[in-house]
Amino acid sequence: MLRIGASLVSRRVSCLIAFLRCLRQSKRSACTSYPQGDSNMANLLNGIKPILLMGPGPSMVYDEVYAALAKPTLGHLDPYFFKIMDGVKDSLRVVMNTKNPVTFAVSGTGSAGMETVFTNLVEPGDPVLIIVNGFFSKRMEEVAVRLGAKVDLLEFAWGNPIILDKVAEQLKKNRYSLVAMVHAETSTGMCNPVREVGELVAGTGALFLADCVTSLGAMPVDMDEHKIDALYSCSQKGLSCPPGLAPVSFSPKALEKILTRKTKIPNWYLDVSLLVKYWEGEKRAYHHTMSSNLIYGLYEGLRMLLDEGLDKVFARQIAMRKLLGEKLAKMGISFLIPEELRLPHLNVVNVPASIDEASVRSRLLNEFRIEIGGGLGALAGKVWRIGLMGHTARPENVDRLLAALKACL
Ligand code: PLP
Repeated sequence: MLRIGASLVSRRVSCLIAFLRCLRQSKRSACTSYPQGDSNMANLLNGIKPILLMGPGPSMVYDEVYAALAKPTLGHLDPYFFKIMDGVKDSLRVVMNTKNPVTFAVSGTGSAGMETVFTNLVEPGDPVLIIVNGFFSKRMEEVAVRLGAKVDLLEFAWGNPIILDKVAEQLKKNRYSLVAMVHAETSTGMCNPVREVGELVAGTGALFLADCVTSLGAMPVDMDEHKIDALYSCSQKGLSCPPGLAPVSFSPKALEKILTRKTKIPNWYLDVSLLVKYWEGEKRAYHHTMSSNLIYGLYEGLRMLLDEGLDKVFARQIAMRKLLGEKLAKMGISFLIPEELRLPHLNVVNVPASIDEASVRSRLLNEFRIEIGGGLGALAGKVWRIGLMGHTARPENVDRLLAALKACL
């Protein structure tokens, strides 16, 4: 009897404790509506497996850059961080071959660089000429039209060269405040004649703008010699860093246009007249919270590039393109663009007839952990884009891709 009584009491006590616990928990969840962390939830980051990036970007990132990214975050107004920013500016000037004081990195990808130069240099009603022979020059039109520019397009079929006589003719027909073109057209793998167009534009009074997203760090960019007034690029291709920063540079003539605009720059975040006050001078004015870690990465990527030497890097890429081309030819795979017009580091190749290109790319990714690019726009389904940019351009990478491609075909 006594034992039954005791067990009844102890059951009641545990019921009471459970009830009180429940009450406490429901009170807690009543005042905090935040989701609770679930310790059983898988950490998706643990599922990231190593990958060989051989597409049009991002390219392989140096281990040294990964180490730089992981250094302690400094405040964006820390004087030591300003020294690192100054180092980035100096190295960018070397890679761009320019003396322009206004050379820095915009927070954002290559497209943010595109927006920055157009937004600062174009006012509503400005006559702008865009030379188009691929996907990315078309994107320039999209950006310029949104700014209210009167845009003329001088169009050549995708993958066709820019005919200089036609450019000269167009420049005689109209006066432009800005002429824009893409240096390395990533959609077709074509190298466009920036030097020659720069010469033609120089006599007209227009500003000359070049998209160097795929060329910077991977092939010669001679900003001053080629009379480029504004250029933009990205961190994730020739500079072998993760995406997230867009190097830009403005000539004194471009800066004059910015400072004498009749209308206010329509975008506060990308306003170069404000950004320079943060990137330059003894006293820096807060503009936005720059990612110090991304800047460390860019600093280190530029250091790696300049330590190896630009000429050596360019030569390494050309040697890898030759190796790739010879081996692809044996497999019956040809290039889209003739050799003399081809980029040294981004290879756009024709997908053999009867091959489902997307399934080959997906096998390369899933079975072999190799990423290559497919075609854009009119070239979708017809080409593969194989990047040999910066750190990616190594013989072992070319061999690995070719062995995997063979297995897939
Ligand atoms: N311009 C060119 C020539 C490009 O190749 C790219 C991207 O590949 C862009 C602009 C846009 O750059 P992002 O994708 O970094 O914004």
